[in-house]
Amino acid sequence: MSESVSSKLTALLSCPECGGSLEEKEHFLICEACDRKYEIEEGIPLLYPGDMDKSHMEEEENLGDIMKDPAGSMGESFSKEQWKISKEEFWNRVKKQCDGTTTGNFINIGCGIDIGFLELSREGRTLVGFDLMPDLLKFLREKHGLNNVVAGTAHSLPFHKDSFDCLCSIDLIHHEWENIHNLLHSFQKILKPGGRLFLEDINAWGLFQFYKSILLPKPLHGKLRSLYHGMKKSSEPPAEYEFPTSVFRTGRILRNLGFRSISVTPLNSYPNIGPARYRIYKTLSKSKCIQKYHNFHYMITARKGVL
Ligand SMILES: [Zn+2]
Repeated sequence: MSESVSSKLTALLSCPECGGSLEEKEHFLICEACDRKYEIEEGIPLLYPGDMDKSHMEEEENLGDIMKDPAGSMGESFSKEQWKISKEEFWNRVKKQCDGTTTGNFINIGCGIDIGFLELSREGRTLVGFDLMPDLLKFLREKHGLNNVVAGTAHSLPFHKDSFDCLCSIDLIHHEWENIHNLLHSFQKILKPGGRLFLEDINAWGLFQFYKSILLPKPLHGKLRSLYHGMKKSSEPPAEYEFPTSVFRTGRILRNLGFRSISVTPLNSYPNIGPARYRIYKTLSKSKCIQKYHNFHYMITARKGVL
């Protein structure tokens, strides 16, 4: 696979420091405005801003290792299967809604090693994977042929405005719940007018979740959660900075940012619980309200308003 960055991808990229255009010279991407130099590692542009907060990188790296090694205890297999189903549900819905869009630029932000995104591949579409961790991108590029991948931080997306026809992001925004408004604003900026947004996130109103995430003060919830996972010796405890997000708040922020046709789609899968609690969820979710608002994941679709 080529070690240089495709011209199609280079045209979408911008300097994470100043927003200038980038040009490839001698295995580096150089900013035409501020002359900053960015490395290309095995064909992956590393577009990190100089002042990036690297404190989350170690925890994200651990998460990445877990993703690459799907083996787990028997007790975890039900939950893992539900995670897998949740991704299939998400990508099937994206595929269906994008059926009429034959060409354009598609991006998956916080893509990890999720290969579901590759199913959107069609003649005339450019697919771009974006993640903090180059190792995960290497896996997608080398093992699954996703040529256009970019490493950087969601706090400073290195893309020109109005670049993408479709932006997908799964389970990312709860990692940035303190900063969610800015994050969604940056999604809005890089989408073309009329471009589609597909978000999935962990639902603060989830049936086995809301009494903790909605009713308890956040710092107390964080402390109790760490204590619980410490005692249980969980193999995949949530990072300290993660917090489920409210579908209502996310919808409100999107509306204020000028997104239109905002719609919430419930996913049927319910990870992180065992089969017994799953049966309770399935029984209760015969009620439309439970099914729509108290599922584990919510999916929000929206379109950037045309000014
Ligand atoms: Zn620059």
